[in-house]
Amino acid sequence: MSTEVDYYELLGCERTADGATLKSAYRKLAMQYHPDRNAGCKDSEAKFKAVSEAYEVLKDPQKRAAYDRYGHAAFRQGGGGGAGPQDFGGFSDIFESVFGEFMGGRGGGRAGPRRGADLRYDMEITLDEAFHGKATEITVDVSSACAPCGGTGAKPGTSAKTCTTCAGHGKVRAQQGFFVVERACPTCHGAGQVISDPCPACHGEGRVEQTKTLSVNVPPGVDEGTRIRLTGEGEAGARGAPAGDLYIFMHVKRHPLFEREGTTLYARAPISFTTAALGGEIEIPGLDGDVRTIRIPAGIQSGRELRQRGAGMPVLQGRGFGDLVVRVEVETPTRLSAKQRELLEAFRETETGEECPESQGFFAKLKSALG
Ligand SMILES: [Zn+2]
Ligand SMILES: [Zn+2]
Repeated sequence: MSTEVDYYELLGCERTADGATLKSAYRKLAMQYHPDRNAGCKDSEAKFKAVSEAYEVLKDPQKRAAYDRYGHAAFRQGGGGGAGPQDFGGFSDIFESVFGEFMGGRGGGRAGPRRGADLRYDMEITLDEAFHGKATEITVDVSSACAPCGGTGAKPGTSAKTCTTCAGHGKVRAQQGFFVVERACPTCHGAGQVISDPCPACHGEGRVEQTKTLSVNVPPGVDEGTRIRLTGEGEAGARGAPAGDLYIFMHVKRHPLFEREGTTLYARAPISFTTAALGGEIEIPGLDGDVRTIRIPAGIQSGRELRQRGAGMPVLQGRGFGDLVVRVEVETPTRLSAKQRELLEAFRETETGEECPESQGFFAKLKSALG
């Protein structure tokens, strides 16, 4: 948290904006500044982080109330910018609720201090893959338990001995004046055990750097920022302590036809002015491979949205699908043949104004306004 620009200002919203307004403002900015679209641009990256952080706070009613009241100070405690959920602002929380809480980054000690670190892996997929799900493999360089010594760090055939200095406690006590001072054992450095014959493969560390190939099942419906946790696939713990987890952060590429918001897909459909006036049908290829025929009612206006229930994205870890919203745009013809021009001229002759009540009403109002 270096600079402190007002969160509302960052999102370009009023302080009274409702959740939906904030969300759409955030989505627009996040798309604009997304690292995938601005590779290597530090400015965009910073902007992306800032708007994500702002939205992360404002989308949560409790955090928002705290922010409205105390400003940035409400979020300053706790190590100022260190590891913590806020660092991951803007990412979808779906997997959090499915798999439990995300660890506060490296060293966050739920399972003891020597648990291995969590790792992050970024994966990019297409919208098609997000729709269908995907079984794939990833390759990661990660430290894992040393095979020859089984992670103990002791040469195979030998074992670590209980430290005689501290009797395995890892700590020693010393009298200093009136006080008893406790400190880490100088012999075993707090481990409680000493290895007299270190494993040659890992030099007594118990872990080695390795390139691992992991299978990943990307479920249908993942969205930008969804996290998939592979339990125990992070860094190995020291000397047999539990490994950390590997988090896969999903990134979904933009699609040429569809825009996505949650489970809703949006598509723009230009139609001819004759189809708009007379009605007709258009065909839209869906991500499921089906071609959907969409009926255009006669007299449709530009900007009308036609909703196709269940033709959107699958619900992540759930049942069913979102909707497909087709936004109709009437295209005015620009290349008329002589014959077409003639027909349209003839049509204009027949116009009374009744056929377009809105423009008729508009010009009537304009006239009365001008006196
Ligand atoms: Zn010791
Ligand atoms: Zn070893």
